[in-house]
Amino acid sequence: MTRRGLLQGMLAAGLWSALTGRGGAAQPQVKDMKGIEALQKSWKALLADGYKAPSPGEPLKLSKDEWKKRLAPMAYGVLRDEGTERAGTSPLNDEKREGVYVCAGCDLPVFTSAMKYESGTGWPSFFTTIPGVFDTKKDYGLFLPRTEYHCKRCGGHHGHVFDDGPPPTGQRWCNNGVALKFIPKTGKA
Ligand SMILES: [Zn+2]
Repeated sequence: MTRRGLLQGMLAAGLWSALTGRGGAAQPQVKDMKGIEALQKSWKALLADGYKAPSPGEPLKLSKDEWKKRLAPMAYGVLRDEGTERAGTSPLNDEKREGVYVCAGCDLPVFTSAMKYESGTGWPSFFTTIPGVFDTKKDYGLFLPRTEYHCKRCGGHHGHVFDDGPPPTGQRWCNNGVALKFIPKTGKA
């Protein structure tokens, strides 16, 4: 291959990964913690026009029966019973559009598309969150203690946060897809 042909091939490969979201584009594009702060401050830019986002300071408390009525059985099992969905089952694993991920229990925005990355685990994964939306607790269910996190507004369980995520945060927020709803920025589901 000529030098020119090689360059063209590389350009085409870059374009392909940009178009399909494969390769480098699936990893965080944020270089440092200043970039993370900017991402956290500007999250509303990815919110669909007209979406009425509740705030973590307006708690949603329902009885067990009310939750059962409000949620599909899978979502109930995760959010209210700390269950874990089977890896690779969530359509949100492949969601690459711009938008905001909200709690499936109470509609509180918790992540944006700009905070998502491909962890290869089979669960939607994020390297940071919208600030102040989760509380954490230590979980001793397995041999090693893990850090469980749940929605500040409705108390719903979402997943576990690990310290093997990509730089600069090093965080991997491993979320059950069924605990999230995706709101595309275009407003069209
Ligand atoms: Zn919630």
